[in-house]
Amino acid sequence: MPEPKPAYSRILLKLSGESLLGREPHGIDFATTTAIAKEIKEVYDLGVQIAIVIGGGNIFRGAVGTAAGLDRVSAEQMGLLATVMNGIALQDALEKQGAVTRHLSAVEIKSLAEPVIRRRALRHLEKGRVVIFSAGLGSPYFTTDTAAALRALEIKAEVILKATKVDGVYTSDPVTNAKAKRFRTIRYIDFLKRGLRVMDATAASLCKDNNLPIVVFNLRRRGNIKRAAMGEDIGTKVY
Ligand code: UDP
Repeated sequence: MPEPKPAYSRILLKLSGESLLGREPHGIDFATTTAIAKEIKEVYDLGVQIAIVIGGGNIFRGAVGTAAGLDRVSAEQMGLLATVMNGIALQDALEKQGAVTRHLSAVEIKSLAEPVIRRRALRHLEKGRVVIFSAGLGSPYFTTDTAAALRALEIKAEVILKATKVDGVYTSDPVTNAKAKRFRTIRYIDFLKRGLRVMDATAASLCKDNNLPIVVFNLRRRGNIKRAAMGEDIGTKVY
C-alpha cells in the first residue's frame, strides 16, 4: 500500500505562547518546546511547507499590562517582544531536531531575526525552510491569531492549523461547562453569529472573507500536528 499523502502542501501552524508553558505557570518549558519541535519535524519530513505564527501569552499579554495601568500601546509592544523570545526558543528547538528554519519578526530586530518580507518568506518555504513569524503584525490592537490569518493569506497557505488546549470548537467553554459539545465542522458565519471564542472575530472574519479554512485541534494529544496535516478528522474544521 502506498504511504498516505499529507492533505496540504503548505500550512500555517498557529502556536499560542501558552503551548510552550508545559506544566510551568509562566515562561518557556524547554522540554515541551522540544516535544512540539519533534512533532513539527515529523510534518517537515513529509515535505509539507510549514510557516508558524507564534504567540506570546506565556510571557506577557498586552491586556495584563493594561490592567496594571500601563498604556495599552506600551503593553502590547511588550507582548510583541514576548513572541520574539518564543520565536527564538522555537527556532532553537527545531534546529536541534534537524529542521532548517528562518525567523522573521514583524518588529525590526535585525540581529535576532529577519524582517518580514513576503517574497523572502515564500522563497524560504520553497527551499524547505520552516518559517517562524513572530511579533504578530507589529502593531498594537491585534492578536497573533489575526497575524496568523494575514500571514496565511500572504503566503497562500491552504489551511491554518490552530493548536489549542481543547479538542476543537465547542458550543461553550468545555473547561467550565461539562455539557459543551464539540463541532466537527462549523461555517464561519455560524462561528461568528454564536460569538465562539477559540479565535478572535477579526481573525475569523479575515479567514471567512478569503475562504481560508482553520482546523482547531488539541496540541496536548501527541501526534495531532501530523494528524491535522494529514487531513485526519480531528478537532473542528471552520470553513
Ligand atoms: N500583540 C500585538 N499585536 C499583534 C500580535 C500580538 O500587540 O499583532 C501583543 C498583544 O499584546 C498580545 C501579545 O502580543 O497580548 C501576545 O500575543 P497573543 O496574546 O496573541 O499570544 P497567544 O495568545 O497566542 O499566546
